[in-house]
Amino acid sequence: MQQKIPVGILGATGMVGQRFVTLLAKHPWFEISALGASSASAGKPYDQAIGNRWALVEPMPDAVKQMPVYAVDQDLVTIASKVKLVFCAIDLDADAIRSIEDGYAKAGVAVVSNNSANRWTADVPMIMPEVNPHHLDMIPVQRNHRGWNTGFIVVKPNCSIQCYVPILEAWKQFEPQQLRVSTYQAISGAGKTFATWPEMVDNVIPYIGGEEEKSEKEPLKIWATIVDGEFILSETPRISAQCIRVSASDGHFATLNVLFKGSPTKQQLLDAIRNFPNPLSDLKLPSAPEPFITYFDEENRPQTKLDRNIDHGMGISMGRLREDPLGGWKCVSLSHNTIRGAAGGAVLIAELLVAKGYICT
Ligand code: NAP
Repeated sequence: MQQKIPVGILGATGMVGQRFVTLLAKHPWFEISALGASSASAGKPYDQAIGNRWALVEPMPDAVKQMPVYAVDQDLVTIASKVKLVFCAIDLDADAIRSIEDGYAKAGVAVVSNNSANRWTADVPMIMPEVNPHHLDMIPVQRNHRGWNTGFIVVKPNCSIQCYVPILEAWKQFEPQQLRVSTYQAISGAGKTFATWPEMVDNVIPYIGGEEEKSEKEPLKIWATIVDGEFILSETPRISAQCIRVSASDGHFATLNVLFKGSPTKQQLLDAIRNFPNPLSDLKLPSAPEPFITYFDEENRPQTKLDRNIDHGMGISMGRLREDPLGGWKCVSLSHNTIRGAAGGAVLIAELLVAKGYICT
């Protein structure tokens, strides 16, 4: 791509926003042209607005240190004039986020959101690029409903579902009927580090507000069919989730028990993972992992600390596939929550939007 596409980050000072900054600072297609946060950060250069809150191992990129931070809401016109796309990762109540995201789309900007506020908005597609890229067909319907010409809103699903929806997608020919999943989620998923959440050192908390509902319902929109401009939710598999906060900095781990309508063998299940028909393969997107899913034969893999960064944090890893004595099959899986599950997943959606012609240079 000869000319980079100017993009903005809303919520640039937060945990996910910092991930966007590091991923986009070296991106071959996109250029960071505006940074937004709350009015408390607005008016300051980015490094001052961050202060001592930089939470990543990677250093802050030099190119953003002196960039001014704008207020996401009061400076909407200024930000919108500088960018073609914004990545949204602000922490606010759902009504306020919907109003901000609508405002940017109305101003002609493509919005790729990490927030849950618009995930159940009827005309907003919730995209996992390797699983439902065809749901981008909803963008013209959305523009038509809202009277928008160049702007639109696309959302990324919750970080917890990234490590099991791809596996069930690989197995869809065997018709999964039920999934029991337990997720063991890292503290960065709450925007925290061990320094800011010392109670999580050597601890497990058996509750993450709203997470089990998201983990059970969002996959059914990912697997929805579109009929006459409406999403018809998938009825299978029925999902029961338990979501647990654990003492890990990054990486959401899961255990899965799957009941199928058919009776696949272990070899058939492994072959389906290894031969995943990846719809992104021919598009050459810079952030797309290859392979999408990695199966470990070692009984003690994947491990959160060892394997969360597989394929730059964009790959899904799994292992320990074995028969469940109560029926069906069980296995474990892992994905990086702030890369694949948040900023990296959103950047991949943006790359898909460019490849499909929804955003032009
Ligand atoms: P965070 O670290 O608390 O960051 C929140 C961001 O929102 C900051 O940039 C903050 O700016 C900004 N903000 C707060 N109030 C605002 C306001 N009134 N107007 C404009 N900006 C405002 O949160 P996070 O973990 O990055 O998560 C951000 C969003 O992404 C949340 O909705 C979260 O649910 C979602 N998400 C997080 C993850 C994850 O793994 N962490 C994964 C998927 C989705 P200031 O610094 O100026 O206050």
